[in-house]
Amino acid sequence: MPLVPMRQILDEAAKAGYGVGAFNVNNMEQIQAIMQAAHDTQSPVIIQASRGALKYSKMIYLRNLIQAAVEEFPEIPVSMHLDHGNSLDSCKKAIELDFTSVMIDGSLAEDGKTPNTYEANVAITKAVVTMAHPLGVTVEGELGCLGGIEDGHGAGLSVDEVNAHLTDPGQAEQFVADTGVDALAVAIGTSHGAYKGARKDPVTGKIMPPKLAMERIHQIHERMPNCHMVMHGSSSVPQELVDIINQYGGKMPDTAGVTLDNIQDGIKHGVRKVNVDTDSRLAMTGAVRKVFVETPGKFDPRDWLGPAREAAYKVYIERMKAFGQAGHARDYKPMTLDDMKKVYAKA
Ligand SMILES: [Zn+2]
Repeated sequence: MPLVPMRQILDEAAKAGYGVGAFNVNNMEQIQAIMQAAHDTQSPVIIQASRGALKYSKMIYLRNLIQAAVEEFPEIPVSMHLDHGNSLDSCKKAIELDFTSVMIDGSLAEDGKTPNTYEANVAITKAVVTMAHPLGVTVEGELGCLGGIEDGHGAGLSVDEVNAHLTDPGQAEQFVADTGVDALAVAIGTSHGAYKGARKDPVTGKIMPPKLAMERIHQIHERMPNCHMVMHGSSSVPQELVDIINQYGGKMPDTAGVTLDNIQDGIKHGVRKVNVDTDSRLAMTGAVRKVFVETPGKFDPRDWLGPAREAAYKVYIERMKAFGQAGHARDYKPMTLDDMKKVYAKA
């Protein structure tokens, strides 16, 4: 099976009412762990790479590793997606590498830091849609700004600033109409990375999960029931994974992620793509630290990359089940980019 356009994966998820995990990758072990989990749970899946990941893996390696994944598991619908494209050029390069979906993050200027005006966001997003749709490629846009910085990308907004840059539901409707995007990343108070907020429990003093503006998702879904929303920064940052890291010599400060309840509530109200990166990073780092501490004599990279892959696999299995995509890999006949071109040409 060739890679499928992400639009189809999201359309099918909407029909059956589930969400699909979009997992970031940088290397072979992560890709293998995702695919094994997708196979074992029979899940359609989105594998995504940031510009930083493509740079790290020298572009062609990551692309060919994902192609290998598709060859190994031909029955699993897989979409290869560019996370946070910052310009027409970065989206074009991804499409030339056979990505079947791109994100243009026009919420920030090309430097990936400065919040953009609405007009500038529409202009760049529309330009990417105009380039991508005739090739059958899916486009995700973003309105409003997320907190945190990931791979050097992000405005680095504080919690208060994040709350000033939430997605406005009325503007979201206008944005989708103005640009023709297939999926919309919404800012509801999530942040990228492992540190998502500073709310402390008044009794225990422990960091609490970020308070998300879920009502914005409900309102957008009411206005646009067919719009596929994307939740970025949706790692749950499980305490047990942080504990393993710290137990074996790590020094991660107290933190908390997005709750599964919030994610599942989003999925009930039009969220179809759930971006998770940090959780597999935590699992892998914990597994590697454990090997190094418990068996300091080991020096074969397979002895620590293998357990890292296994730890990530467990996280992916849990997420695929929780988001509801498990069991849906064979629901539909996968489309090609050529099929999708015809759909866009008719629209
Ligand atoms: Zn993101």
